[in-house]
Amino acid sequence: MTTRLLDGRDVASHLRRELRHRVERLSGDDPEAAPQLAILRSGSSEASALYASSLERAARSVGVVPVVLAEESGPMIETIDRLNADERVAGIVVAQPLSDPELGRRLVERIDPAKDVDGATPANAGWLARGEPAFVPATALAVIAILEAYDIPVAGQRAVVIGRSAVVGRPVASLLLARDATVVICHRATRNLARETRRAELLVVAAGSPGLVRSEMVNASAVVVDCGINATPEGIVGDVHHATVAPVVRAISPVPGGIGPVTPMMVLRQTVESAERTASGKTTPGDAG
Ligand code: NAD
Repeated sequence: MTTRLLDGRDVASHLRRELRHRVERLSGDDPEAAPQLAILRSGSSEASALYASSLERAARSVGVVPVVLAEESGPMIETIDRLNADERVAGIVVAQPLSDPELGRRLVERIDPAKDVDGATPANAGWLARGEPAFVPATALAVIAILEAYDIPVAGQRAVVIGRSAVVGRPVASLLLARDATVVICHRATRNLARETRRAELLVVAAGSPGLVRSEMVNASAVVVDCGINATPEGIVGDVHHATVAPVVRAISPVPGGIGPVTPMMVLRQTVESAERTASGKTTPGDAG
């Protein structure tokens, strides 16, 4: 059996081309008309700064103008209000964690849901949970984008998601459910995780635990999507023990080079959707759910 490698870099480069065309259509000959993506970050958090810089690069690569604002540079609630009101700003992302997590939460709650292109606001989370159109956390959307790019069916499949966080596990489960999968969500208190994962036709792993999923936990027809990003002495690894699992499943996304490169493209796709909606005068929330 040959395992298919779900190559996120390849998916991201297709998305980049598509988005570049859509941005060109929006801006025409006027560079001033290019949509802007505002990224609020904290200088004291490496994770926040890394996410911000990967978004900044991705934005430039499709012609969206990144506007990076450091937490340290001024009163942030007023900044969010100003960005909400600015027509050129199509998307607003708070690159978590901020140095003050409570401030991070208040800032997110202040974002206009129509500009919430990383699906972080309670409004978008609620719409997604209800199965209605919403902007969706980018990593969760990246899982669906990879499955779609490789024509992997979701409807009717038994999907198992490991992880129930608001940024990955829960929204992935909602998106799979909206696409008619039968979804099981596993977490730290799940008894006999292997019994659940062995039954999965689609296995999405977002636990933050390096090498958690091993070959005896999967079946031969499984498609495995690994969202984990774990820094180890051996480098960045996923939540799946890739070397032993990859040879025994139908398809698998690697780490690095799987979900990682697709995630910023999902923020950009939702940013472009927001800009297109503004250009066409529509006011409904996102349509990615
Ligand atoms: P989190 O810590 O908020 O949540 C982890 C979830 O996994 C929890 O629900 C927990 O119950 C579950 N879990 C942890 N260990 C488990 C175990 N042994 N058995 C069963 N369930 C277990 O983490 P998160 O923010 O959801 O991130 C998960 C992983 O995804 C991390 O590695 C993170 O770095 C990665 N991530 C990747 C991207 C990306 O762009 N690719 C974005 C966000 C997060």
